[in-house]
Amino acid sequence: MQFNPRYPSLNPKLYHHQMPAPLKGAKAGHFNAALADELQWSEQDQAQWVEICSGQKTFAKFEPLAMVYAGHQFGQWAGQLGDGRGLLIGQILDKHGQTIDLHLKGAGSTPYSRMGDGRAVLRSVIREYLAGHALNALGIASSNAVGFTSSTQGIQREKLEPGAMMLRTSDCHIRLGHFEWINQYQPDLLEDFVQKCIEWHYPECLEAEQPVLAFATQVIQRTAVMIAKWQLVGFAHGVMNTDNLNITGSTLDFGPFGFMERFRPNWINNHSDYQGRYTYQQQPSIGHWNLWMWLNNLIRLKKDPAEKEQFKEDLAKCLEHFEPTFLEHYTVGLCQKMGLPSFHKDSFDCGMAFLRILQTEQLDYTQSFIRLQNKQYETIKDDCLDRRQFESFLAQYESIRANQDTDALDAEMVKANPHYILRNHMAQKAIELAERDDYSEVERLFKLLSQPYLKQPDLEQPEDLGPLPSDVPEVMVSCSS
Ligand code: AMP
Ligand code: MG
Repeated sequence: MQFNPRYPSLNPKLYHHQMPAPLKGAKAGHFNAALADELQWSEQDQAQWVEICSGQKTFAKFEPLAMVYAGHQFGQWAGQLGDGRGLLIGQILDKHGQTIDLHLKGAGSTPYSRMGDGRAVLRSVIREYLAGHALNALGIASSNAVGFTSSTQGIQREKLEPGAMMLRTSDCHIRLGHFEWINQYQPDLLEDFVQKCIEWHYPECLEAEQPVLAFATQVIQRTAVMIAKWQLVGFAHGVMNTDNLNITGSTLDFGPFGFMERFRPNWINNHSDYQGRYTYQQQPSIGHWNLWMWLNNLIRLKKDPAEKEQFKEDLAKCLEHFEPTFLEHYTVGLCQKMGLPSFHKDSFDCGMAFLRILQTEQLDYTQSFIRLQNKQYETIKDDCLDRRQFESFLAQYESIRANQDTDALDAEMVKANPHYILRNHMAQKAIELAERDDYSEVERLFKLLSQPYLKQPDLEQPEDLGPLPSDVPEVMVSCSS
């Protein structure tokens, strides 16, 4: 590994150095060898992946640390938070020279653990491991993980569960909530912190006339793109608190996430989200709200009152990029999924008409697009109670596609419509087996989700292709993990 320790160059008030506390009886879970290669892990490192992913081995070139941050949780100021159960144990260069954080989740309590035990259970680790992998393979910026380990140590949740650790990778663990902590508790650190964020993550902004405004605009745009991509694959993050969004617009902190099955935009996938703040359909507006909260923390960078007023207006203008960026990516992406030309004035409406059918008929989001792609129009219609609604959609759909280069449009569909997403019941089955030390289903899903846009008849199982029947109770996921 090639280390590039840069977080420790920040003011020590922003972190606490400590070593991981290994669990008893650590044992192999799953290892992502392709990612380890990408991160230039040597053969020796790879041979020691279990020790590394269980906190037994750390690196002389990086002293592990827990970061402090704050956040708004479910819309309320939550005060100081921080890495309560994770440690940054390395920053290393990948094959492309990009710095990647190695973050060990479940590594024991830290000064920021509050009431928590500093641990993670196997169930939540497997969900996060597979989801990060799935999103990466879908082409959505996200954290990933080199591997995870289980243990013989029981961790108390609603019941006693096996403790686990996961070595998460991300291009950035600096959260919107970092700025909230600094602004609230150590405002003198803000200027230097912002400067470092720009140098590390947006060096091109240093050339801009106003680097901070260029930086803010970039963060806003990348977040908007990430959320547009979530919407297109039906991903609901579940806990979009300001401490769970980072400044590079790559997905972070999977808890009670869900890939939507039947198209229900107001489906509550996180059972701790009593008011439905973080449903699928709310994600764009919550993203906007989070960024607005974030921008407020930058105002302090200007001291002079007149300059401050102008700066506030300029920051508000940066946020105006959010909606058009989101809409552009979402619209183009939806047209791609539909096999419609994005320049045609009626394409977006036609896409919306299709989504309305999925919603009223409660059809599976992922499979319905695959059926459309395969021209299985009769199959979709057969599943509709209101067949006339589908017929009128189809008439519009075919009229837009008439006289277009349908081969090119169809080729776009193949790249935009996954066959496989991580359905809750798929993850659940893998978890139940893993809790009995059988990782075969984790391995199968890992492989299947590596190429979600490719039909894999030899690997797939019927349950991968749709929701469970509606009389089977849903898998409940909540914040407890
Ligand atoms: P989350 O909503 O999972 O991102 O967690 C919110 C905050 O709670 C973060 O500061 C976490 O580090 C902390 N946290 C969550 N679970 C635990 C735990 N079991 N022990 C200590 N801290 C935790
Ligand atoms: Mg979090």
